[in-house]
Amino acid sequence: MTEKPVIVVTGGNRGIGLEVCRQLARRGAQVILTARQPEDGKGAVKSLAAQKLSAQFQPLEVTDAESAAALRHYLKREFGRLDVLINNAGIFSKADGPGLTVKLETVRATLETNTLAPLHLSQLMAPLLKRSRTARIVNVSSGMGALSDMQGGYAAYRISKTALNAVTAILAAELRGAVAVNCVCPGWVKTDMGGANAEREVSQGAAGIVWLALDAPQDLTGKFVRDREVIPW
Ligand code: NAP
Repeated sequence: MTEKPVIVVTGGNRGIGLEVCRQLARRGAQVILTARQPEDGKGAVKSLAAQKLSAQFQPLEVTDAESAAALRHYLKREFGRLDVLINNAGIFSKADGPGLTVKLETVRATLETNTLAPLHLSQLMAPLLKRSRTARIVNVSSGMGALSDMQGGYAAYRISKTALNAVTAILAAELRGAVAVNCVCPGWVKTDMGGANAEREVSQGAAGIVWLALDAPQDLTGKFVRDREVIPW
């Protein structure tokens, strides 16, 4: 059994997720880099290895219950516990649009990946997290889901992240004293999703997530965080 913190990152093959894996590996964590396409996940692990950083690939399609159950089985067998679950995988549909016209099928698909998958993974992993003394769930959300600053447009994405924030608050209340549960806005980040005009480098976007995973006070829970500061819901 490893003494290193065992950390699962969803959507670890590119974008913010891959950079989170890189920063965690640099900090000496036991990184389980997950991806839905095995070639992409293995390629990402190789890219880290080229920088002398170690991560282990495991397949995970976050919306697939069997895939999630297989990951839990692997973690239980290999480590007997999980220290941190980072729900990073997310989508921003090209078909997204104003609340008045967006298709409900687009809203449903976005909710499946951005909201229901983190809820389901948290449910599955809670027993393994409860075996850790420093257990945390980090949900990668967005300022676009903040009710305190809600705007029109991109309704499917906004709804999914507002609901993810609700999932965070509910699980934080239910797991208080056992697992710290927070959500984090990485800011507007240069990735495939954020686009080339985004304000932040991927390293900056990932840093707040890594802080919540490893460095935030263990009693910080049920909060929405950006740049290590609690922000309004
Ligand atoms: P990205 O570059 O588009 O990467 C998204 C990642 O999620 C990819 O690894 C993708 O895998 C994975 N993914 C999507 N659906 C999945 C599924 N069903 N199962 C497993 N993996 C899946 O996006 P990003 O910018 O890194 O975003 C990461 C997180 O930050 C998301 O939750 C996003 O909402 C949030 N965020 C981003 C920004 C920004 O400006 N970039 C701002 C606020 C919040 P594939 O390669 O297989 O597609």
